Amino acid sequence: MINHRGPEFAALLSDCVEGLRWAMQTDNDVLLFPASGTGGLEATAANLLSPGEKVLLCSVGSFGERWADIAAAYGADVVRLAMPWGEALDPEDIERLLAENPSIEKVFVTHNETSTGVVNDMRAIAAVVKSRGKLIAVDSVSGVGSLPLPVDELGLDVVVTGSQKGWMAPPGLAMVAAGKAALAAAESARCPRWYFDFARQKKFQDKQQTYTTPPVSVMFALQEGLAIMREEGLENVWARHRRVADMIRAGLGAIGLRLFAPEGHRSDTVTAVHSPATSPDDTKAWLTALRTRYGLVLAGGQGQLQGKIFRVGHLGMVDERDAYSILATIEQGLYDQGLLSRVGFAVAAAQAVLRQEATTPEPAAVG
Ligand code: PLP
Repeated sequence: MINHRGPEFAALLSDCVEGLRWAMQTDNDVLLFPASGTGGLEATAANLLSPGEKVLLCSVGSFGERWADIAAAYGADVVRLAMPWGEALDPEDIERLLAENPSIEKVFVTHNETSTGVVNDMRAIAAVVKSRGKLIAVDSVSGVGSLPLPVDELGLDVVVTGSQKGWMAPPGLAMVAAGKAALAAAESARCPRWYFDFARQKKFQDKQQTYTTPPVSVMFALQEGLAIMREEGLENVWARHRRVADMIRAGLGAIGLRLFAPEGHRSDTVTAVHSPATSPDDTKAWLTALRTRYGLVLAGGQGQLQGKIFRVGHLGMVDERDAYSILATIEQGLYDQGLLSRVGFAVAAAQAVLRQEATTPEPAAVG
């Protein structure tokens, strides 16, 4: 390891922050806290809110509920816009709630809900929130970097992400892009905070240090992850996630599995699928068999979705070959369980996606 108060660390920190600004398309400060993604959510609540303050919490699943619980634990008066799990946010609901609750100054939204595989339309949501002059804070732990989220263009005041997702690093670093309005709001917000204090962390980062000992090893990995992304190019990173997700969705659909998220709101980093097994126990047994027999680790459902869905993660270091292997393994696993009578259709459907892409002409340039 290196001295985290020395020049090598200053260079590492600067590389990480510049890389994150590039990937998040922002000139805002990116504050780094030694924590998992939840630490970034807690930091945002603690720094932006005051006890008793009304805040709009837009939730579409388990991580949105978690953020609402954190805000409530800090004493905020949480107005919950909670969609049924599997549905996306409707910006009109946000518009209505802001009109009904004029004292609300801050809106918290999940961009990419990992528990349901739903991605929200952040452009439309940000437009509604910003047209009313409110602050918007976004949980994009499993989104930004892998999915387009132009932070400055959309005027997102806070965006939270975590090192273990698309950044291809181990867990341990919460990254929080905070704009000027958010930092100003933090100065007057009265919720208690200490370890996660934005102002103190900014003061230290401005001197190329962090307040406490940083997770240096995670930052080395993040630096490398960002270098890989720069080499590929941001648009190519997004396109690869889109292509792999298209392959996974097409392959699973071809063998009769039903995707959980609605068309138009399906995440390119995680796909949630109705379980083909007849009971939660059978779903669990099937996922265990995939892991122990074939080494394929899929996630089950969380909370109310336990035993009802399974989830395929496809973010970070993932490519077309992974999609083929995931699909072939899922198919074989279903065949083993007697849930499928023939194999080969999922991979063929994924191949068709690539063929289609190869023959689709580039859109003509406009103007
Ligand atoms: N928000 C979202 C959308 C997530 O996907 C996760 C984790 O998967 C979190 C928050 C919480 O992050 P962590 O588990 O790193 O604390």
